[in-house]
Amino acid sequence: MVNTQANPDMLQRVLIIGGVAGGASCAARARRLSEKAEIIIFDKGPYVSYASCGLPYYVGDIIKEERDLLVATPEMFRRRFNIDVRLRTEVLRIERDARLIITRNLDTLEESSEHYDALVLAPGAVSVRPPIEGIDGPGIFNLRTIQDSQRIKQWIKDKSVKKAGIIGGGFIGLETAENLEKLGIEVSLIERLPQLMPNLDPEIARQLQERLTEHHVNCFLNQTVTGFKAGSQGISVSTTDNTRFFDMVILAMGVKPEISLALQAGLRIGDRGGIRVDDQMRTNDSRIWAVGDAIEVKNAVSGEWGLVPLAGPASRQGRIAADVIFGRNTKFRGIQGTMVCQVFGLTAAATGLCENTLSVMSEKIPYEKVFLYPGHHAGYYPGAKSIFLKLLFSPRSGKILGAQAVGEQGVEKRIDVISMAIQKNGSVEDLEEAEMCYAPQFGSAKDPVNLAGMVAANVKRGDSPVKHWNNLDMSAFHILDVREPLEFAGFHIENATNIPLPALRSRLAELPTNKPIAVYCAGGQRSYYATRILRQSGYQALNISGGMTSYKNIIGE
Ligand SMILES: Cc1cc2nc3c(=O)[nH]c(=O)nc-3n(C[C@H](O)[C@H](O)[C@H](O)COP(=O)(O)OP(=O)(O)OC[C@H]3O[C@@H](n4cnc5c(N)ncnc54)[C@H](O)[C@@H]3O)c2cc1C
Repeated sequence: MVNTQANPDMLQRVLIIGGVAGGASCAARARRLSEKAEIIIFDKGPYVSYASCGLPYYVGDIIKEERDLLVATPEMFRRRFNIDVRLRTEVLRIERDARLIITRNLDTLEESSEHYDALVLAPGAVSVRPPIEGIDGPGIFNLRTIQDSQRIKQWIKDKSVKKAGIIGGGFIGLETAENLEKLGIEVSLIERLPQLMPNLDPEIARQLQERLTEHHVNCFLNQTVTGFKAGSQGISVSTTDNTRFFDMVILAMGVKPEISLALQAGLRIGDRGGIRVDDQMRTNDSRIWAVGDAIEVKNAVSGEWGLVPLAGPASRQGRIAADVIFGRNTKFRGIQGTMVCQVFGLTAAATGLCENTLSVMSEKIPYEKVFLYPGHHAGYYPGAKSIFLKLLFSPRSGKILGAQAVGEQGVEKRIDVISMAIQKNGSVEDLEEAEMCYAPQFGSAKDPVNLAGMVAANVKRGDSPVKHWNNLDMSAFHILDVREPLEFAGFHIENATNIPLPALRSRLAELPTNKPIAVYCAGGQRSYYATRILRQSGYQALNISGGMTSYKNIIGE
């Protein structure tokens, strides 16, 4: 093995395959670390460093000009960084023994070979396109590149598209649905799974689905597409139980790592189908690094390998690869899957592990969860919007395992803070103590992040154990509703007793002592107070986390 760290000045030629998030950040960082090295980016596309994340908004005309998607140009790379960018140049193969890459100019078809001292693979991902009959027909598009978005825009214009089908309910599908709806197109989202956004838990994803439905986006879940066909009524999309017709179809069925070069070069591919790298982005060839959507990443919480195709990690990994190439000991800390997505003003964000994942590994990682519904800023200041916050944590150590939130304001700020806490191996007590900005228009003296920590720490300390609607054995508990009679009359759980919180101290004798008491209210706060009264009075009381609001969100009534 060549020890490339020993003498970074020997690295005369750094070649980078792929010039978008991972590749571009690697190149720019590399130049900041070495004025001597020759740095060349190869990309088979016509652009370097563009904002793929902006594509749904370009399709929807929110971003008006194509040039606004271009973060940098080859000229800028040359002038500012002295980096050579070769566009429309595909790398065909890697000859590791000779340390060469073979490239082809896609305009002239001329092939040439380039020697490298260090090679960085940042080829991204490819859209998943299952071999479904008719999938390559006209009017069926992916949304991955600027050219894809141009083709979609042109088709909408030429065909005066009125109805669009989107296959896949991940964040690209959702963002595209909103943008097409805003163009006046009737949109249907077709998803194979029983929920949208598989990286979110169902009760969070359901909020997004409801918001889409309110905005006339049809959401069809549990529907596997079996075929496409162009006909006089448009493009037919057949699913396991129906056939629908559209003027245009967008495939948003996910992505998979682009590993063709890595495979050809005999680089190690992991079990999840991405290039396997170490924590310094190095492949099993000490001269070759790989970053971005093409690689597998280790989950910082579970330690498991996975695929997390997001722009932030790709950029950070590119930077780390450059650091390591030039002799720095920088390490990638692993991934938490921190993400955010918005539809029609409703934002959902997540970090760490979700319950969908934890529930299948609960023996390895025992977890508990709490739900809360704080305002995004002080209630006394006009305009406070509720955030639905779910925190997952270890009941023994209090270690934060994950968090998800959905709401109209302040959602991503809370998830970002919790994300940082997770990265620092933080606990629910750390969230209790987190020092957050506060003025009434921004937060509360007890910020939602603090409240999440407090509620969870109360559980961990045994002050207020929790139960959840989805696994509550009603027969094993006396169910106590501590809301006001009017609220109780509106809707309540069958067989629940109603003792409003203010009356509880004087009516304790009405409660059985031979059964644990599960307490609920509207959102979990009054039932927490009640749980404390009861526990200090000798009752075995538990709080049903998030009360009736959780009931509605989890049970869906
Ligand atoms: C529509 C859309 C919306 C998105 N929104 C978000 C978002 O909101 N937030 C977020 O975090 N992420 C988002 N992403 C994901 C994000 O864009 C990717 O995670 C990120 O771009 C990955 O960076 P990368 O450098 O690994 O690969 P890419 O950005 O895909 O770049 C890879 C480049 O390599 C080139 N290439 C591949 N093979 C070769 C070869 N053999 N020779 C030469 N060149 C080659 C390709 O042409 C491509 O330009 C979105 C993606 C899309 C498509």
